[in-house]
Amino acid sequence: MTSSSPDSAGRPAIRTIGRIQPCGWLLVLDAEASSVLQASANLPELTGLPMSQVLRARPAELLGRRLAIRLKQEIKGRSRLPAPLAITRRVGEGSMKVQVNAHRRGDRVIVEIEPLGPMGQRRLMALVNEWLRRIGEAESRDRLLDTLVEGVAQLTGHDRVLVCRFDADWHGKVVAEHRHGPVASLLGQHFPASDFPAQARSLIEQNPVRSVPDVQARPVEVLAYQENSGAMRDDLAACVLRAPSPEQVSYQEHLGVGAMLSIPIQSQQELWGLLIGHAMAPVPLAPAIREAARALVQMAAQRLFLLRARQEARYLQRVQDSRDLLTRARRRLPSPESLVQRHGAEWLALFRAQGVTLVHHGQLVSFGQVPSLEALDTLVSRLEAQHTHEGPWYTANAEMQAMTQGLALDGICGVLAIPLRLNTQRRDWLLLFRPEQVETLYWAVPGAAAGDRSGSAPAQPLPGRHSAWREEVSGRSIAWERIERLAAMDLGEDLALAASVHEIERLNARLHQEQQALADANRRLEQLAHFDSLTGVWNRYRIEQAIDVELAAAERYGRSFALLLFDADHFKRINDRFGHEMGDRVLRELARRVGQSLRGCDHLGRWGGEEFVVLATETDREAAVGLGERLRRLIAEVAVEGLPLSITASIGVALWQPGDSRKTLVKRADQAMYRAKTLGRDRVCLEDGGADASPVT
Ligand code: GH3
Ligand code: MG
Ligand code: MG
Repeated sequence: MTSSSPDSAGRPAIRTIGRIQPCGWLLVLDAEASSVLQASANLPELTGLPMSQVLRARPAELLGRRLAIRLKQEIKGRSRLPAPLAITRRVGEGSMKVQVNAHRRGDRVIVEIEPLGPMGQRRLMALVNEWLRRIGEAESRDRLLDTLVEGVAQLTGHDRVLVCRFDADWHGKVVAEHRHGPVASLLGQHFPASDFPAQARSLIEQNPVRSVPDVQARPVEVLAYQENSGAMRDDLAACVLRAPSPEQVSYQEHLGVGAMLSIPIQSQQELWGLLIGHAMAPVPLAPAIREAARALVQMAAQRLFLLRARQEARYLQRVQDSRDLLTRARRRLPSPESLVQRHGAEWLALFRAQGVTLVHHGQLVSFGQVPSLEALDTLVSRLEAQHTHEGPWYTANAEMQAMTQGLALDGICGVLAIPLRLNTQRRDWLLLFRPEQVETLYWAVPGAAAGDRSGSAPAQPLPGRHSAWREEVSGRSIAWERIERLAAMDLGEDLALAASVHEIERLNARLHQEQQALADANRRLEQLAHFDSLTGVWNRYRIEQAIDVELAAAERYGRSFALLLFDADHFKRINDRFGHEMGDRVLRELARRVGQSLRGCDHLGRWGGEEFVVLATETDREAAVGLGERLRRLIAEVAVEGLPLSITASIGVALWQPGDSRKTLVKRADQAMYRAKTLGRDRVCLEDGGADASPVT
């Protein structure tokens, strides 16, 4: 900022508050647009008034009454004029058509005045419409951008119009170019991120079109009296006329550029790239043409994002197809582990990855090339500790990230980690890995390239070329694109679901097993409760139940049945002479043989010791005695290995009588058995009053 002291006549000092390009005029008015605060030093040539008067004039004196009033009315309550105002000014002998534009900045109104170009409005409209149509019909990105640069070149007359696409680090790559005449090509080359610092990018938002029709033109100072000079430093930030900084001028000079135009290609969410026009010599650019170029760029941006959305939709469809396979597979309920094995190859292709790892329940399943188990373990615990939100974590530059730094990643530079939401304390993870991608970049400007990336060799100038610098960039993978991250999230969701389903299935299987075990235990308990452990026949409890059931049935239907009680004779002797073990074997064999010989509807139970009960249903007196006799003979034939004796038993038979209880019935059988004992054993006795059967020998 320069200033001059009050002159000898005591007039106040005039200060410089900024600079504009000489292709227009600038006024800074107060918020009501009713007084002049600052003005560009070239206004005398437009107004015929000396500068000292310009800075004291009312807007009407400079712009004419009608224009000043319209300006005041139209800017009222607005941040900028709805449309530029056009007027014809008398300048010296002739007249000149100018356009007036105004916008608010803080509590000031900034008025920019530019000469209108010679091209007729109608011709321009026709040209613009033609190019808009072509842009609207482009079916591929390359075709679209080629059309755009050609259209803009035709409108502006620039020698080289290019499209520069930003990458994730704000390096710009020239992806389309139209050249006219012998200018060097920049196609495929890069502009380093340092050319587009955050501040410059924010200026792009405020003032989307940057036009410098003559890079070398001496800028015109914007002046103000001392008392009006308290300007915001960036008062002129949103001005089209703003003069380039000395650094910007030397930058353009280095590129050999005499005039430049830059228009952002952006959506509401992102700054995708820039359209840049270069002319080797100064070229005036009428405001209407500048706006027309902007219209083409806007149309192209819309088309570009539409094409991209279509492409993304196609990609998502492929991912969806793969997910469908997963869903189909889910019906067969494979484990997440087998899903990885089955679909791994397909996922690697979809996500341009070389390895995938699923971390499920702390277990790792991998497909393709992945880091060592140890590195994976460390990565997962770091993710657990540091990555708390539900979105993905990713990097294309693992060595530069705290999360992945120092891990032995074996040449892997790209990591995409998707947390899987499961109702477990530890999250599961889907991890995708990309290898290093060594890339050769050609920089359009030297110097800025080297050293701002890890692992990059210093840029080398290319022999025989003016402005291209070659650089090998290593230590990074291709970037994880938004759509790929979204798709991976979708896949992760499916995997989480598959894992939950599998988990439920596993729990069900365990439940089933446990139910089985419970049923077995119940069976064993029942066995214990109902069967005699030595002989395997019913125990006393069970045979008593059976007697009760028969008693009830007999009572109800008058169905007669018999109860036979038999006791091994002189059993003590067997124990005494051959051991308890032998006694057991005899009891088992006795029970087995008797059990086998009975009808299905008859029951055998161990009453205690060497005493057994046979419950014979639907049996009358004669049949009961017959059965007793048959059993007696059978028992006498029982042979047990190692026992040199035959076994005999005494059998008491009782028949059901109306009014019987278990007790009375058993008692009569017991008495009959006792009688058999006293009568000499090895015989069958019928209860009181019945004929005794003698042993048949
Ligand atoms: P009796 O002809 O009068 O029935 O003579 P006994 O020796 O068979 O009768 P006693 O009641 O004197 O003896 C029964 C024996 O049966 C005594 C007992 O040790 C034996 N005993 C009872 N239960 C078992 C068993 O489960 N295993 C073995 N080995 N012996 C048993
Ligand atoms: Mg006995
Ligand atoms: Mg006994």
